[in-house]
Amino acid sequence: MDSTLDSRLVSQPVEMKNRKRGDDDDDHGSNKAKRRSIALVSYKELPEYMKDNEFILDYYRANWSLKEALFSIFRWHNETLNVWTHLLGFVLFFGLTMANFMKVPQVSNLIIFFVRCFPISGDTNVSHDSRDLFLGTTNVIDLKRITPTPGLDIALPVTPVTLWPLYVFLGGSMFCLLSSSICHLFSCHSHHLNLTLLRIDYTGIATMIITSYFPPIYYIFQCDRQWQLVYLGGITALGLFTIVTLLSPTLSTGKYRAFRALLFSLMGLFGIAPGIHSAIVNWSNPCRNITLAYESAMAIFYLTGAMFYVSRIPEKLKPGWFDLAGHSHQIFHILVVMGALAHYGASLVFLEWRDRHSC
Ligand SMILES: [Zn+2]
Repeated sequence: MDSTLDSRLVSQPVEMKNRKRGDDDDDHGSNKAKRRSIALVSYKELPEYMKDNEFILDYYRANWSLKEALFSIFRWHNETLNVWTHLLGFVLFFGLTMANFMKVPQVSNLIIFFVRCFPISGDTNVSHDSRDLFLGTTNVIDLKRITPTPGLDIALPVTPVTLWPLYVFLGGSMFCLLSSSICHLFSCHSHHLNLTLLRIDYTGIATMIITSYFPPIYYIFQCDRQWQLVYLGGITALGLFTIVTLLSPTLSTGKYRAFRALLFSLMGLFGIAPGIHSAIVNWSNPCRNITLAYESAMAIFYLTGAMFYVSRIPEKLKPGWFDLAGHSHQIFHILVVMGALAHYGASLVFLEWRDRHSC
């Protein structure tokens, strides 16, 4: 963002607040009402349904029309960065999906700095360039590029590895990021829409958790169909139950907050069983360390994000200082995108491994 635009955007809420406080006398009729409706308000002035974080003191939108809320994406208020962090995350994952779909490894592997986990001899025609190495993966299989090399410890694939589990994860991530952006942009419209969008936002989170399981479980247990079914069936059933619970008006009330938190925790903890299982059966796998590194990075990003989300740090320490930028929810959003990117990296490694080791 350039500095001119930056300063213009920053000045807008201030102008609105000044106008709200002193200049209304000059206004007439509908103009007056309209101007008042698009003024930013303080926490104390919020309707009860919007009072969520008492440490963010100012720059709120309240009861704005859908059109005003839509165009507020280009204005500074305390949700601007919450909208943009996940909207840019959506654009990033959309780009990665298209790059995989259109077989552009230079883009689809952009975030992968270290992918090689196979012993490759110098005289093989599989390139040492990691991006070229992936060409065989994202282009599914080009049998002409891979010829048997004596002593090379790879098994040639007989059937092309399917990409659908990767697309399921990318689709789930895009749904989560987009629904979150829409929720942050429009939840200032009305109480009814606020409740609906919050439910969609929670559904997006649950969908992202469910779909994250698809690439690792599908590729790791590709030769053990019954485990594939047990784990993918289990997480899908648990996820669907969580979504139905979140969409139910009764179970989405404050009374059942702990129950909902328990369901989300169970969805995360569900990964322990297939995680330990795959570590045991793949202990000597050359990809073990790199996938562990990616998945550990993902866990650290998600857990740190959850800590910011729950603790409401830093705004709790200095209320009012982080209203526009730097508050906990924005940090949480960025860490969610980084966690999803780390999981995408792990998914590509699982895919590459399965590309070379069919059943
Ligand atoms: Zn959010």
